[in-house]
Amino acid sequence: MRKQAFIINFHGIGEASRPYEAGERPFWISRHEFLNVLDLVRSNSDVVDFKLTFDDGNSSDYEIAAQELRKRSLEASFFVLAGKFQQPGYLTQTQVRELAGEGFQIGSHGLNHVDWTGADDRELADELSGSKSILEEVVGRPVASAAIPFGLYDRRVLNALRRAGYRDVYSSDGSARLSKAWPTPRYSVQGGLDAGRLVETVRHGRLFDRLNNELRLRVKASLSRSIVRRMKQLGR
Ligand SMILES: [Zn+2]
Repeated sequence: MRKQAFIINFHGIGEASRPYEAGERPFWISRHEFLNVLDLVRSNSDVVDFKLTFDDGNSSDYEIAAQELRKRSLEASFFVLAGKFQQPGYLTQTQVRELAGEGFQIGSHGLNHVDWTGADDRELADELSGSKSILEEVVGRPVASAAIPFGLYDRRVLNALRRAGYRDVYSSDGSARLSKAWPTPRYSVQGGLDAGRLVETVRHGRLFDRLNNELRLRVKASLSRSIVRRMKQLGR
């Protein structure tokens, strides 16, 4: 039987050493919660094909996550902010290069963590192509994956991602990976998570939920910018 794919997305672990952005705090989890999720990943890998991703390029990716992943021989993708390497609390270029050198995948989360649906054409090009060139320079290899900030996208953003050369694109739209969904949905972990509930979601992903989700995503991919902006967003 084919294993169900499930992508877990993290933001920060522990406490940020910089001010939190509006709405960001709930997406930081404690070290203890992080270790619990890693245990869950290991103990359910017989039935689920897990993939782990990290958005925002926080220092905790390097200081906490990478260490714990290494100990468990777990792979992960880090979607970093190419415009924030010099800012406190974020990964530096050296750290990103080191993570890439160890075999972790590096993808783009843009430059400055802005809503791409609200960016004009020039800013969108900087966010997508500009961040891609910076990252390729840093890691010394092609970068073809991106995670969409705040999970906010519309047709224009998806077209721009394709044109910029991104093959793997991730949203924050939900839980199970759907057959042909592009961008690929992820489950964003929040503080105070109920590990039992997460196990249940992962192990018994219901067909009904999956179909429902798939319909919702198709509709979203065809929405206009103004409607998307009005939608209440769950993910970051
Ligand atoms: Zn983000």
